[in-house]
Amino acid sequence: MMSDMSRFVSERSKDIKPSQIRAMLAMAAGLDDVISLGIGEPDFDTPQHIIDAAYQAASKGMTHYSDAQGIMSLREAISEKLKRRNGVDAPPDQVMVTIGGGGGLSLAFLNTLNPGDEVITADPCYAMYFPQLILAGAKAVTVPIREENQFRLKAADIAEKITDRTKMIIINSPQNPTGSVMNRQDLEEVAELAIQHDLLVLSDEAYEEFIYEGEGHVSMASFDGMQDRVLTINTFSKTYAMTGWRLGYIAGNKELIKRMTVYQGTFLANPCTFLQMGAIQAIQAADEDVKAMIAAYTRRRDIMVDGLNSIPGIHCQKPVGAFYAFPNIKELGKTSTDLAIDFIQKAHVITTPGTAFGAEGEGYLRLSYANSEENLIEAVRRLKDVVETHYR
Ligand code: PMP
Repeated sequence: MMSDMSRFVSERSKDIKPSQIRAMLAMAAGLDDVISLGIGEPDFDTPQHIIDAAYQAASKGMTHYSDAQGIMSLREAISEKLKRRNGVDAPPDQVMVTIGGGGGLSLAFLNTLNPGDEVITADPCYAMYFPQLILAGAKAVTVPIREENQFRLKAADIAEKITDRTKMIIINSPQNPTGSVMNRQDLEEVAELAIQHDLLVLSDEAYEEFIYEGEGHVSMASFDGMQDRVLTINTFSKTYAMTGWRLGYIAGNKELIKRMTVYQGTFLANPCTFLQMGAIQAIQAADEDVKAMIAAYTRRRDIMVDGLNSIPGIHCQKPVGAFYAFPNIKELGKTSTDLAIDFIQKAHVITTPGTAFGAEGEGYLRLSYANSEENLIEAVRRLKDVVETHYR
């Protein structure tokens, strides 16, 4: 019999910690009547016509390997969308289809970073950046984003952290977990820094459609002189409610896209062939579906934020984008983790402690409002009840 299996686990693998979001879900297993505001996933199902397109492709025999860079007709559709929607010039040879946004991030990190390279990211930020950077051997250098700046990442704060090891700045607007949206000036200032210090920018635009007010989404790759410097990452997951399809894309410099294509071909062959035909349908024919979903998220944001602000000791700014509320819970006098655990046990409501997204998330919770109005109203009622009964 084999005794110590940990001997067979690589050091690289041991460095990866399980996600705190999933830990919270596990804690709620076995409880009844649970409302989950934990995981960042649309509650909508994928629109049927998108499913039909993938199904038909499979029925017609598109069940074989395909181009490691992604099917040409999908890359053409993405290229056209980037031009029309984002003002980004990226011909199909500068676009590649990835296995979700997560697949795109790992390709970008693994093909541009060397051990010891420093990558600047906001704190708090999307939790997966940290383990992904560890796997690439790079070092995450965090820049606090602050409530008084509506959690927008500021160039002046980034500038303080740039060293001669810095290779990349990650921007994510609209942002997970705070819902902040960088305006054009914020982005222009970061772009200037990147040019000045000769850095790459990874622009994670997963939530580009989820903006509820203001000037709307701006893609940094649309700025003059930034085309080759920015890797634009996107995903079908959130916009079209396609999380389970695992499809996303990267646009950027041709040479870098070529490297990433070799990498994807080596490890994964290609993203699922027939699902890519559904993605074409999504890009070309789902604008109305997206509009209806965004209208629903807009109502939900108000319910969530107004509800949270009605709870004594909780203060929540109205997020401009994404589908998360990020309330300040400092007055309640508990750590984010303890409060999140208490909310699971006493209210059967799953939230995520702000610290799941970085040390600066202490004092905050993330609540996903990608859930029905009915569930959001009930979740807020329960949280309010717990706070009024136990925290006063
Ligand atoms: N980037 C951000 C900011 C995200 O929040 C997510 C998913 N939560 C992703 C990328 C990855 O999305 P997926 O892999 O599902 O496409």
